[in-house]
Amino acid sequence: MTLRAPHRAHDAPQPLGGNAQRVLDQVDRMADEIVALTLDLIRIPTVNPPGAHYRDCVEYLAQRLERFGFETRLLPAEGRPEHTPAHPRINLLAERRGRRPRPALHFNGHIDVVPAGAGWSVEPFAGRVIEDRIVGRGASDMKAGIAASLFAAEAVRRAGLELEGTLQFSATVDEESGGLAGMAHLCQHGWITRERCDYLVIPEPLGADRICLGHRGVLWLEVTTLGRIAHGSMPFLGVSAVDHMAEFVHRLNRELRPRLEQRVTTMPVEPPAARRATLNINGLAGGQPPGALPQSPCVADRCVAILDRRFLIEERPEQVRGEIVALLEQLAAADPEFRFQIRDLLEVLPVWTDPESIVVQSAARAIQQLSGHDPPRIASPGSYDQKHAVRLGGLSDCIAYGPGLLEQAHRPDEFCRIDDLVRATKVMALMCLDLLG
Ligand SMILES: [Zn+2]
Repeated sequence: MTLRAPHRAHDAPQPLGGNAQRVLDQVDRMADEIVALTLDLIRIPTVNPPGAHYRDCVEYLAQRLERFGFETRLLPAEGRPEHTPAHPRINLLAERRGRRPRPALHFNGHIDVVPAGAGWSVEPFAGRVIEDRIVGRGASDMKAGIAASLFAAEAVRRAGLELEGTLQFSATVDEESGGLAGMAHLCQHGWITRERCDYLVIPEPLGADRICLGHRGVLWLEVTTLGRIAHGSMPFLGVSAVDHMAEFVHRLNRELRPRLEQRVTTMPVEPPAARRATLNINGLAGGQPPGALPQSPCVADRCVAILDRRFLIEERPEQVRGEIVALLEQLAAADPEFRFQIRDLLEVLPVWTDPESIVVQSAARAIQQLSGHDPPRIASPGSYDQKHAVRLGGLSDCIAYGPGLLEQAHRPDEFCRIDDLVRATKVMALMCLDLLG
């Protein structure tokens, strides 16, 4: 792994060869179709949780891909507990062979979106164009990205060009909830591996003019403090798990957070505030659920917190976990009534693609051809399906590149600018020519 300064001095746009210009012209001609596909995808409310309408979405995409010359295959996540009759987890794999099976360029998009949430000024799943933007849940994250990658492939075909190498596409489920029935499942079952593909592009909404090479690590821990129940009118007879949790949270804020603030990664994470190690408490609950009525007067004997620790490539997971356990042990050493349990919920190691790798260079050339600027190489604050492709699929040439804004993801009135969508489609189309032509 190498970390290096992301920028070269920018050069003037290179004159494009005939084939490249033909493909770009095709993208411009198809702009309305690209927008229409994005809107159609937004109108299929693939909300996760629970994982709704996945079949509708993959069947829709399969039909479209077949029209675009791909062979398709639906791959249900058989054996996964979340693959249920009510909410089947169905992934889509598609391939359009070139003259040779390799090299193969694979585009992977997740079809699931997070729930709409409150605060929208438009209907979240209506799929609307408002001025120069596509608005709706999933507009940025990442139905625009899926549309861009499909039409990049289609631009090549409509330009009448036959590629040497092979184009692959997958639409996978559950990225927002960890991707185990989606990308991880396809990697584990040999569908997305280095034996089958050479380059992977995940069109997450990192913006049309920059390339994302990886992400920080994640550790989710469930911490439970255990107390002793007693009558609430005589709390001195019990031990409050809530009070103990409060003490623990206080220590996290006062002792651990300042240490984390000091740790800065050399990885170019965007936004720069996320270059530090971070900690979030996803949730906290103790005693009786506050929403449940009536309440009875009891000292809380149990309190649970879920910690979301994002760690840097320079940190070790054992250290990340160890310093949280150490705080709990200090509290237990100081107070014999302080009892706790800790459970690992999720661990994701950081990933970082070599900036000199072929796929990064190809994306950089394509962006530069269109913009005249050598694009920034960045890292994402949150993890995405690249982790599975790297760890389970053994792929090393892997980037996230796609239209939209990460800041829009999961927000009300989520949008993607149409010019961003068209531009990203062009970049991906140039990459198809460059990597497979
Ligand atoms: Zn996403």
